[in-house]
Amino acid sequence: MSYKNFTIETDSDGIALITWDMADKTMNVFTLEVLDELDAIVDQVTNDEAVKGAVITSGKSTFSGGADLTMMNSVFERIQEERAKDPSGVSKALFDQVGRMTGLFRKLETCGKPWVSAINGVCMGGAFEMSLACHGRVAADGKDVKMALPEVKVGIFPGAGGTQRVPRLTNQQDALMMMTTGQNLSPKKAKSLGLIHEIAEPDKLIETAKQMIRDGLKPVQPWDEKGFKLPGGAIWSPQGAQLWPAVSANLRKQSYANYPAAIAIIKCVYEGLQVPFDTGLRIEQRYFTEILQTPEAYAMVRSLFVSLQELNKGARRPAGIEKTKFSKIGVVGAGFMGAGIAFVTAKAGIPVVLIDRDQNAADKGKAHSQDLVAAAVKKRRMSEEDGEALLSLITPTTDYAALDGADLVIEAVFEDRGIKKTVTEAAEAVLAPGSVFASNTSTLPITGLAENSRRPDDFVGIHFFSPVDKMMLVEIILGEKTGDKALAVALDYVQAIKKTPIVVNDTRGFYVNRCVMRYMTEAYSMLIEGIPPAMIENIAKMTGMPVGPLALNDEVAIDLSQKVNRATIADLGEGAVDPRHVELIDTMVDTHGRLGRKNGKGFYDYPAKPAKKHLWPELKDLYPQQDPDDVSVDEVKRRFLATIALEAARTMEEGIVTDPREADIGSILGFGFAPYTGGALSYIDGLGVKAFVDMCDDLASRHGEHFKPTPLLKEMAANGETFYARFGAGAGIGQAA
Ligand code: NAD
Repeated sequence: MSYKNFTIETDSDGIALITWDMADKTMNVFTLEVLDELDAIVDQVTNDEAVKGAVITSGKSTFSGGADLTMMNSVFERIQEERAKDPSGVSKALFDQVGRMTGLFRKLETCGKPWVSAINGVCMGGAFEMSLACHGRVAADGKDVKMALPEVKVGIFPGAGGTQRVPRLTNQQDALMMMTTGQNLSPKKAKSLGLIHEIAEPDKLIETAKQMIRDGLKPVQPWDEKGFKLPGGAIWSPQGAQLWPAVSANLRKQSYANYPAAIAIIKCVYEGLQVPFDTGLRIEQRYFTEILQTPEAYAMVRSLFVSLQELNKGARRPAGIEKTKFSKIGVVGAGFMGAGIAFVTAKAGIPVVLIDRDQNAADKGKAHSQDLVAAAVKKRRMSEEDGEALLSLITPTTDYAALDGADLVIEAVFEDRGIKKTVTEAAEAVLAPGSVFASNTSTLPITGLAENSRRPDDFVGIHFFSPVDKMMLVEIILGEKTGDKALAVALDYVQAIKKTPIVVNDTRGFYVNRCVMRYMTEAYSMLIEGIPPAMIENIAKMTGMPVGPLALNDEVAIDLSQKVNRATIADLGEGAVDPRHVELIDTMVDTHGRLGRKNGKGFYDYPAKPAKKHLWPELKDLYPQQDPDDVSVDEVKRRFLATIALEAARTMEEGIVTDPREADIGSILGFGFAPYTGGALSYIDGLGVKAFVDMCDDLASRHGEHFKPTPLLKEMAANGETFYARFGAGAGIGQAA
């Protein structure tokens, strides 16, 4: 028989080598067609007497990325539509559908012939679950070989037997950790956990897998053997009694029960390990059916998988412009940001010229990369040779002539219009026509800065976030005259350094900082109202934000907030900033010298390590405090989410952000907006625009005009629209980028 996605070759020992290689994809994924073919292959192996066993591997450099979530996205949309009409009918149909992979993998492991999975590269989700159903598992030794059950990161969980097989192969604590965090396992780690049997040199992978079969690998899984015992003890055992009472508490501590999929994993393991294996699979299937119908799964798959992938592939790239192959990039300003930009550029294998005012400053910029490389080598995340190769790509200098031949120059000098003008002119004197000049400014409009340029159509904003090596988002800012070529080059660059771009039109604060400002200013209002600071910080984290607003303000620096306040008032007038906020920030900076983490004194105190930072005790003395029991936790939560979401909605209304995918991804990657919502606009769509508008009206009646819903929101509420439906035409979800 021949298949579209697999080839089968049976050797003289009767071992069938099944190679998964999908012609139309760069990575193998489970589609309905793949499942059908695999089903037929299992039958073929089972029924062909000449076949003694099977090895399954991939014909690509990776093994497989798991289920095709892009396909799932359309399933989700159907679920949402049909649920409204017939909720129980949807559950039943879904229950049968989600059992498909579970049933197939169970059939494979009970077919009576040994199967070995030969894992040659990245093996994720459903593909690792399939491997776990094989009787033997060998992984190639290599730093690109990774295994994981990462479903929880997109709001779902391993629903094809993963929650039942993993804790029957390894201890429950490691199993829970692996599945509730979605962590990647190296071959060594997977072997130490008992999740794979062997590690082989890449060129011996298939041979090692076949040898397991020749050596008489039993075609029976441990849990199908009589007398099977759980590794690390049963649930109701002394070991279980030590582990389980803390499990829910730990999960709450980490994610405040915001992620239904993580809770479902715990339930599947806890309940499934107390019953026979097949009943455990059924329990998993039930919870999976339930999770697929949650708004969290729908929103997270859409934003964190589908949209993220589309943006990374260049969804916003103008058509018809040749892709840039970067031969040299210039970075001017080797300070905090410039040094980070040089590092991520060199890490992508691109030569960098790093310019500053004097050689010492330029060398200091390169030293940042030396420190990062040394740390990575120490942690064995990078080999010494790779580290040296990276550093050899960075040339620190004061000589603008070295920019000759650069495809792109990014300036990250002081936030000063005059200095930026000098630097732009000096660089452009050397640059060839067609090369692009970018500014990393965080506050100065790009259109104004482009006036310093002789070629404003080749001038663009490329706005990084700090720390540059960790933050995955980059805002690309279009000035009024920025041309398609400059946008394409900026997008190509962000793709080359493996970060995610969002494209934003020019405005004060662009997109991310506008939203972040709202998060922090809402916290100022709460402080002024006398809400205890610890409640402000903890409730913010309970909503799903990674860092409390006061801690975040300390990181950004409180004196920077003061500067922003003053600049905003200078440009837009007194009414542009709430005077109570100005007074609070001035008191912090001018009266108490509290500048933030940088001077060890902000909303928090930063004692010497190992002591941890803690809220500044005198902060509560600045305003009369409310009784904590009088503070509504839900109201505080709503205020944080709504004020940010409203700002995101305003940026859409003003045409600053034009694609809801970018608003959502920007909010999650830029400042960690409660990821379970799918992002700031998905939060509104998820609630329903009408419900959001009502909530904002209600908040405005107690907390001020800034909560008043905008005209666009009111119109959308009246028409029953969502952001994705209204603005999604050019940004269709699941649409090929
Ligand atoms: P920084 O003070 O750490 O670095 C600025 C560097 O520019 C210094 O090394 C300085 O010597 C150099 N410089 C000044 N004048 C120069 C000149 N004429 N020629 C060459 N080099 C010169 O500042 P930073 O925090 O890295 O900020 C740089 C830019 O990035 C600013 O526009 C800022 O708004 C923006 N930005 C900063 C952040 C942040 O978190 N710090 C985030 C995003 C964007």
